[in-house]
Amino acid sequence: MTTIAATLEAQLDEVSLRQLRVIAGVAAQRGLQAYLVGGGVRDALLGLPIGDIDVTVAGATLGFAQAVASALGGEVMAHSQFNTFALNIADRRIDIAMARRESYAHPGALPTVSPGSMDDDLARRDFSINAMAASINPDSWGELLDPFDGRADLRRGVVRALHDASFRDDATRILRAVRYAVRLGFTLDTHTLRLLRRDLTHIDGISGARIRHELERIFQEGRAVSILDRMQRLGVTQTIHPALALDAPTLEALRRAVNCPYADKAALFLSILTYDMAASDRVAFTERLRLTSRWAQVVQDTARARSSVQDDPSIDVFSRSEIYMRLRARDEAAILGCALFDEDGAAARRLTLFLRELRYVKPMLNGNDLLELGVPQGTRIGELLYDLLVARLDEKIRTREDEISLVLARLESATDG
Ligand code: ATP
Repeated sequence: MTTIAATLEAQLDEVSLRQLRVIAGVAAQRGLQAYLVGGGVRDALLGLPIGDIDVTVAGATLGFAQAVASALGGEVMAHSQFNTFALNIADRRIDIAMARRESYAHPGALPTVSPGSMDDDLARRDFSINAMAASINPDSWGELLDPFDGRADLRRGVVRALHDASFRDDATRILRAVRYAVRLGFTLDTHTLRLLRRDLTHIDGISGARIRHELERIFQEGRAVSILDRMQRLGVTQTIHPALALDAPTLEALRRAVNCPYADKAALFLSILTYDMAASDRVAFTERLRLTSRWAQVVQDTARARSSVQDDPSIDVFSRSEIYMRLRARDEAAILGCALFDEDGAAARRLTLFLRELRYVKPMLNGNDLLELGVPQGTRIGELLYDLLVARLDEKIRTREDEISLVLARLESATDG
């Protein structure tokens, strides 16, 4: 039996090591065998830091998960019908799952789940490099289960599906395969690549929410643009939606987005990916991916920001207040997405002027100040605040006194009138 005890000790931080030992202690007391599984084992063997801790236990129950949570001073936050448990321990999350067997009634169906052995549990996984488990029980700490030779694939640098029906069973694995290959600098195993091409059309059977989830995970990757580029070359993006075409300007804008300090990269990527879509494609894409309301807003606002600023031929004579009015209701990611398409152009300068400066402009006076100056209650207050904002945006007034003078002048002309 191969053991990776020393590797685990080297790669896991102190806290995770202690937590795994506590989990294993609770398992051992109940006569259960606990394993670290999936990405944690893969990353440990690659010498990479281990992210989330996933533990699988044959026969795990809610009682077991609760016993672990209380031994670690945390709580069970979520519990699925298939005995998977999310534990919250201080600021960390640990996932504990019952070992399970899965089968698929038809391509794209959600799997039918039943309790299983560790072998069953590893056989239901996506790729050999993710289908390894390391025992964490005290008497067998670090013993490796590697029924699909994932360790050899890690050495060779290949992503290999476990069986010929893998992508048919679950075509989200097509997206996952490309994500792992690019992230790790691996190649797709030749036979796996053949299967991937053969089964591309099964992406059609995957729900919008599941595809969206995989896309979100891609957007969060450091090499997201290369992943999307590779997906495009393999015909994956076009299968998700024909309008999801990454031409050279789109890839260029995506690369700029990676280097841009904006935090919500997913929204920004989405804006760029949909920037060039025709209106009907945008609607179809939004429906296909069952976009959340925020994401749907980003897609819609990208089109609006583009047409109201970027594509307007009179853009060169826009005043600052005009730019403000055209963009004030638009989503930030949508505006930035448009700007990234035209980095040195007139439109980009106006879009970034709005983001950096104009959207923060406010009059110094507020409604109460206007009442004190003698403006009557009612719609006049709003109108004057709007006039002040426009004058301030267009740099016609600078000080509080300028604002007061403007209000008094308007009041006077109203009285005169
Ligand atoms: P990452 O480093 O991207 O988080 P991970 O390996 O932890 O990678 P998860 O998506 O969190 O990935 O999934 C955990 C494990 O569950 C994977 O390692 C894999 O074994 C398995 N898995 C996840 N999704 C699938 C899938 N669609 N089909 C089969 N197995 C899957």
